Amino acid sequence: MSVAENYKRVQLKVKEAAERRGGSPESVKIIAISKRHPNESIYQGIKAGITDFGENRVQEAIQKVEEIQEAVNWHFIGTLQKNKIKYIINKFCLIHSVDTLALAEALNNQAEKNNTSFNILMQLNISREEVKHGFEAENALQEAKKIMALKNLNLKGVMGMAPWLEDIEKTRPYFKELKDVSNVMNKAGIEAPEISMGMSGDYEIAIEEGSTMVRVGTAIFGTRQY
Ligand SMILES: *Cc1c(COP(=O)(O)O)cnc(C)c1O
Repeated sequence: MSVAENYKRVQLKVKEAAERRGGSPESVKIIAISKRHPNESIYQGIKAGITDFGENRVQEAIQKVEEIQEAVNWHFIGTLQKNKIKYIINKFCLIHSVDTLALAEALNNQAEKNNTSFNILMQLNISREEVKHGFEAENALQEAKKIMALKNLNLKGVMGMAPWLEDIEKTRPYFKELKDVSNVMNKAGIEAPEISMGMSGDYEIAIEEGSTMVRVGTAIFGTRQY
């Protein structure tokens, strides 16, 4: 299957899942996760109409951002070390993976120094796995308020990952929890409505539960090369 055919299929499934929750296809943005795929695959994606790409490693990401001479939106979705922030200034439309207040403060400082800002999502540890990063749902509102006070950050919403489960239907409660956190923030007057949830294996369920952005890699580009 080509990237174009895969993307078409994903678009159709996104549309159908959005309709099942009573939304329009435009209510869900597809972010094509191009990590560990060559530039050639990204160009195929651009030709097929993909506008948003996501990467999870700083070095690989900035190389691609610099090499791909097309006006596309780049998202950063991976673990970000504070000493690497300086490399990502003004390169990404959205950082999905802000997982601690300390990282938010470091991003804010670098943005201020460079007279710019970062659009960010708060990553929540909805799966509660030791290896996964993020804020705890219980503290999310309190931490969101602190992030809102950081002048050079624009908090756009939340991000989360369900655990890998054989029975994907079991991922649903995790997505519901992230949607609940988003609702709590909204009720508290925090205008940050984006909900980045759903990957190749579970994006249809995530959309049914309220996702506004899905991060789909394998279903578009195929298996990654390591
Ligand atoms: C790799 C990755 C994805 C995409 O995973 P697929 O299963 O290939 O769709 C989504 N989100 C994050 C945070 C990732 O690291």
